[in-house]
Amino acid sequence: MASDKNTPINTISKIKAIRKQETSVEEMVDGIFSGNKAMLAKAITLLESTNPAHYEKANGVIEKCLAKPNTSIRLGITGVPGVGKSSFIETLGSTLTALGKKVAVLAVDPTSSLSKGSILGDKTRMQELSKDPNAFIRPSPSGTSLGGVAQKTRESIILCEAAGYDVILVETVGVGQSEIAVHSMVDFFLLLKLSGAGDELQGIKRGIMEMADAIAINKADGSNLEKAKLAVTEFSRALHLYPPKANGWIPKVLKCSATENTGIHEIWEVVETFVQQNKKNGFFEENRKNQNKNWFMQTVDDKIKQFFHQKASFKSEQEKLLKAIEDNKMSPFYAAKVLLDKITKEL
Ligand code: GDP
Repeated sequence: MASDKNTPINTISKIKAIRKQETSVEEMVDGIFSGNKAMLAKAITLLESTNPAHYEKANGVIEKCLAKPNTSIRLGITGVPGVGKSSFIETLGSTLTALGKKVAVLAVDPTSSLSKGSILGDKTRMQELSKDPNAFIRPSPSGTSLGGVAQKTRESIILCEAAGYDVILVETVGVGQSEIAVHSMVDFFLLLKLSGAGDELQGIKRGIMEMADAIAINKADGSNLEKAKLAVTEFSRALHLYPPKANGWIPKVLKCSATENTGIHEIWEVVETFVQQNKKNGFFEENRKNQNKNWFMQTVDDKIKQFFHQKASFKSEQEKLLKAIEDNKMSPFYAAKVLLDKITKEL
């Protein structure tokens, strides 16, 4: 630009900063409601920002978006790296957009800030789906704590729903606690597995089996097909050992091939059956309400802990009291009272 030549650099960067900030809450909400992908992405960037002012503004957007009714389905997908999550999402996503649905893909990957994005960050993943006008793909937010990363994804779901996305796919890596976080933000939780040499049930975390509404044995193609059939039988048998779920749902075990596009439709049918059944018996709404309440409680817990750890004086008081307990000079309950009194005084 010619005028840039005579404009001091710091003025240009100020103008650029203002341009970046320009969009008002109302403009963002209008953009999101009309399905504008760029505006949706911008609002997500805002809520992912560590700047408290940005977060305030994002909250204004989220509140408006929460008020918009939707009939979305939130589907969590987990599995170890290499199981075929992105291939599966690519195939399922394209199947759904071909059915006329709008699909958003989000991710919770607490390792992404360290590894610069191990899931969804890689541009070679989901190439077809990313070109689909009815799909919206967003890599995992970065962050130092799983709680923080999960919260951003949770809020992004609300924005995507307000933007008219019918199906929200939330991907997570099958390591650490991230499945628990994703399980607590979705309606249906799908575990992707590979068939092995008869040792399918070894090395699988018990908690994940309990959380799964369905297990899909992926890569059920070529010479793997027979082993996959065997794995289906073994997992079905194992699932019978778990107590029935409160909503009456019996988890299903299926096989599929993400690359050959077999079994994908069947998995979607299971999800739809689950949703219909749970809407009928009231568990769908109840589950979402409970999830919201849990998120609230957890966020309050996190914030209190954060407040505590930010104050050096609390830490030193805690150390002193721990020492007094160790030396049998104070009862743990009285020590807790002393510390809490100090905290409440400073609140
Ligand atoms: P992710 O790490 O779980 O996201 O796994 P990817 O989707 O990146 O897949 C890992 C590898 O497995 C890639 O080379 C895929 O082409 C391959 N793969 C994924 N799904 C299938 C499948 O259904 N059948 C076969 N044969 N290979 C698959």
